[in-house]
Amino acid sequence: MQQIQNGKNERPHISNVCNFTKPTESKPSLLTFNEVTTLFHEFGHGLHGMLANTNYPSLSGTNVFWDFVELPSQILENWCYEKECLDLFAKHYETGESIPMEYVEKIKASANFQEGMATLRQLSFGLLDMSWHGVDPSEINHVKEQEVKAFANTKLYPDVAENCMSTAFSHIFQGGYSSGYYSYKWAEVLDADAFEHFKDNGIFNREIGKSFAENILSKGGTENPMTLYKRFRGAEPKPEALLKRAGLLN
Ligand SMILES: [Zn+2]
Repeated sequence: MQQIQNGKNERPHISNVCNFTKPTESKPSLLTFNEVTTLFHEFGHGLHGMLANTNYPSLSGTNVFWDFVELPSQILENWCYEKECLDLFAKHYETGESIPMEYVEKIKASANFQEGMATLRQLSFGLLDMSWHGVDPSEINHVKEQEVKAFANTKLYPDVAENCMSTAFSHIFQGGYSSGYYSYKWAEVLDADAFEHFKDNGIFNREIGKSFAENILSKGGTENPMTLYKRFRGAEPKPEALLKRAGLLN
């Protein structure tokens, strides 16, 4: 972790370790699209660490509120769908031809398959998590009843009486997410809204890139995420950019 000690800015050591497709005897390592987005994602966490510029290691780099830590990583994934970015590296390993955008458009189109259901599902998990951690436990008398109540607003299909997800939802009781499961969706709101700022002004816009580095990446957890975000974006995040990206809003 980066820190300032005895007046010296100690730079961190950051590494990204990924399990990618291995080369074979006849082919080099050819990354799948998923591996490329993963690499961009993890590199975003890397940048959060590398560009950190704070006093204390406990507030440096990725030491931020749980629901803010995925913004630097998830936002980078957006570049994987942009021609300007792909043309820099996504070339056929034999012919050198850039990846045709029609392929990327197809990947984008298929990514939104059943997105409405997936969105509701993710929201329902967040609400279930909150319902367990957000009330006085003595008010909960029945696990299944509690779950049915939590799912009520996002339910698409009739409930299956035998099903009870809470008892197997390890994220919310033992996985560290306790009342923080919503952060998956919230991070998407943030990254879509923040990327829109780049998209509107050029995905390689230096000024906005600098502002992102200065106001978000370098600051770690030294200030409230909303303060940092507003300094970068000029406003609070809105869900519209995410809904548009998800194909749920025109
Ligand atoms: Zn991540």
